[in-house]
Amino acid sequence: MKTKSPSKTRIVVVGAAGRMGQAIIRSFRNVNGVELVGAVEMTVHKDLGKDVGVLAGVEKTGIILSNDLKTVLSNADVLIDFTFHTAVPINVMLASQMGRAMVIGTTGLDAAESDAVKKGAEKVPIVWAPNMSLGVNLLFAMVKKAAAALGTDYKVEVDETHHVNKKDSPSGTALRLGEKVAEGLGWDFKACMIHDADGAFRKHPEGKIVVRSHREGEVVGDHTVSFGNEAERIEFTHRAWSRESFALGAVRAARWVVSRKPALYDMQDVLGL
Ligand code: NAD
Repeated sequence: MKTKSPSKTRIVVVGAAGRMGQAIIRSFRNVNGVELVGAVEMTVHKDLGKDVGVLAGVEKTGIILSNDLKTVLSNADVLIDFTFHTAVPINVMLASQMGRAMVIGTTGLDAAESDAVKKGAEKVPIVWAPNMSLGVNLLFAMVKKAAAALGTDYKVEVDETHHVNKKDSPSGTALRLGEKVAEGLGWDFKACMIHDADGAFRKHPEGKIVVRSHREGEVVGDHTVSFGNEAERIEFTHRAWSRESFALGAVRAARWVVSRKPALYDMQDVLGL
């Protein structure tokens, strides 16, 4: 007997002509069980009416860049938002009024905007994460577990390398990795972190987590967490090649979130960690 194939998760991307929006549109080709049904941009965007596949540098999708989120969303299950922080509360309000799940990758939200997301998550399921890379989120869980298992006899370093134009140092991901290690050790990260901003600091005092930053060429983002003692050294490394790593995570999160209860989730939930 033939079984009916499960229907695909219908997704709308908002901020579709942006760097992340385009990466997400390209990444649909690499994730099963999902369908792009809409792509939305600002009211006055110059590319409205164009095919979003062509805009993203791949084949035609038949999906036209629109500025009418409400109409597009009525035919979808979930909305992925990579826009600008001020746009997020408006999109959350619409999604929650229409009963549609959301994935939010947009960063830089202030307290009021963040509260709007939390309020929306009382009505619909929302995944919200500042780093959607599946690999980085897996690394967060692994280094916490490693720290808890190895204990305080190992010296821990978080080493990060990024392109020379990166403004913040250490990277947000390096800080989160350090926090996860500290959680595993039962330490207060703020109190035990030493930042080696230019490689000049070569010591490693007892009870400290050293975060080392390097700025080189066009490196997208490398992070290594190491645990060492006199006898051995264990290293966990993640290297990001492109923003497709965030895009794939966002599409995976969209597929996952549609069948959840209303609540606020992060990528650790999506990965079952
Ligand atoms: P971008 O500027 O290239 O793209 C943002 C797009 O959103 C633009 O095309 C803009 O026109 C559109 N936009 C702005 N307001 C809008 C509105 N009200 N309605 C519809 N479209 C609107 O930026 P980007 O590099 O794609 O990044 C977007 C956001 O995602 C930023 O906040 C960035 O920090 C964040 N980001 C998150 C992750 C993650 O893993 N969570 C990864 C990369 C970037």
